[in-house]
Amino acid sequence: MESYDVAVIGSGPGGYAAAIRSAQRGMKTVVIEKEAVGGVCLNWGCIPTKAIIHSVDTLAGIRNAADLGIGLENVKVDMKTVIARSRNVAGRLSKGVAYLLKKHDVSLMAGTATLQENHTLQVRKKNEDPVRIKAENIIIATGSRPKELPHLKIDGKDIISSRHALEREDLPASVAVIGAGAIGVEFAYIYRQLGVEVTLIEALDSLLPSEDAEISRELLRAFKKQKIRCMLQSRVNRVEKKNGGLLLKIDSPKGGKEVEAEKILSAVGVAPNSGDIGLEQYGIRTEKGFITVNGKQETGAKGIYAIGDVAGNPCLAHKATREAMIAVDAIQGRSPAPLNKEHIPACTYCKPQVASVGLREEDARNRDIEYTVSKVHYRAVGKAVAIGETDGFLKILSEKAGGKVLGAHCVGAEATELIAELTLALSRSLTVEDLAHSIHAHPTLHELIMETAENAGGEAIHV
Ligand code: NAD
Repeated sequence: MESYDVAVIGSGPGGYAAAIRSAQRGMKTVVIEKEAVGGVCLNWGCIPTKAIIHSVDTLAGIRNAADLGIGLENVKVDMKTVIARSRNVAGRLSKGVAYLLKKHDVSLMAGTATLQENHTLQVRKKNEDPVRIKAENIIIATGSRPKELPHLKIDGKDIISSRHALEREDLPASVAVIGAGAIGVEFAYIYRQLGVEVTLIEALDSLLPSEDAEISRELLRAFKKQKIRCMLQSRVNRVEKKNGGLLLKIDSPKGGKEVEAEKILSAVGVAPNSGDIGLEQYGIRTEKGFITVNGKQETGAKGIYAIGDVAGNPCLAHKATREAMIAVDAIQGRSPAPLNKEHIPACTYCKPQVASVGLREEDARNRDIEYTVSKVHYRAVGKAVAIGETDGFLKILSEKAGGKVLGAHCVGAEATELIAELTLALSRSLTVEDLAHSIHAHPTLHELIMETAENAGGEAIHV
């Protein structure tokens, strides 16, 4: 039986990063993957959606080109090419990860791994005899899958998941998107820009309910302007077939409503892939399916770690990658600093983009923290005006005494890029004064950060 220092189950952004880091540290490492290398993020999530969103953003830009003095007629979208490009991008990155694993001498095994006694793993591949391997340390990085509502089973035809949407070359005339989390909001934006009638149905009282309420309100305003029908505090209770399409019966605050749509895109969250791994062999505990871990990503069973979506919310690739580093440090007996969940940025790639890190105003209020809010609109920044991206704002929360950054919330152009500086500020305990004193190149959208930080002290130049 082949024996390893580290075996990683799953090759997503958590798993492959853990495997490469283990190998970099001189440990004999294997990664086991049952599908494509790179996991959901790279093959069916973050990356292919961003490729499609790039097509859609370009289309939106072309539609506004007349304002820039560029005349364009007969703009056409070829969905076949849009989808082919997105699949190509995903394929390229998946191959890239396979190359990196090879380069670092990480063994890659195709198959489904289950935990067996004495730190052995059984790896099953269709139509082949199972193989057993042994590993002193095991990192579980099995990710998550789309949740399904009991009365809205994903069938890939009438009711689809984001994975189906990423492959379909035909566009429906109308879509009801259920759930206004990151996936629902991104696909509502994609479909609408492509000319599809979109109804976005969310059970809670805002779009992106985990964002600061003011940001969610701004997004709602922008989506209404794009003619995306948004139904909040609403739940689908029944779906019937009608005229070759679907009739959704919805409970809303205004009573029963009906919505007709050709397809339903279900985006109601994800469920961890923790069943069928053999956790019971080692008495590894789960909570709502998520593996319980401590600050070193340890599961409680000696030498067995869990990282990424399967180890708890938020289910974000960059959280998984950080946890991978923590797990490898822990294996080597280093003392990794545990992940601070409040320092994990969240990014949503609709238009306007949404990005945030740290405390929301409602969190600060609930904790009785005395805070200052500084909010500056993009229109205060020269570059934003020059490129015609004046919608949206940045809001920084800081401690009233001392000015330490507590949180930042941005809605508008390149918000998902701007958030990096604010994440650094938060994780390094910087103050708004530190941000204001750092020289920001002109003209850039980053000046919005400097301006908002200066505004916290009442000294913004352009407000
Ligand atoms: P989510 O949990 O973020 O959002 C699901 C939404 O569905 C919630 O707002 C919830 O209130 C709503 N919902 C649940 N049941 C409902 C019902 N019966 N009717 C109406 N609404 C209902 O999950 P998601 O958007 O599916 O995304 C899955 C995971 O992937 C999340 O962790 C998300 O952060 C991550 N993700 C991130 C990005 C990104 O970073 N850009 C993009 C896509 C997904």
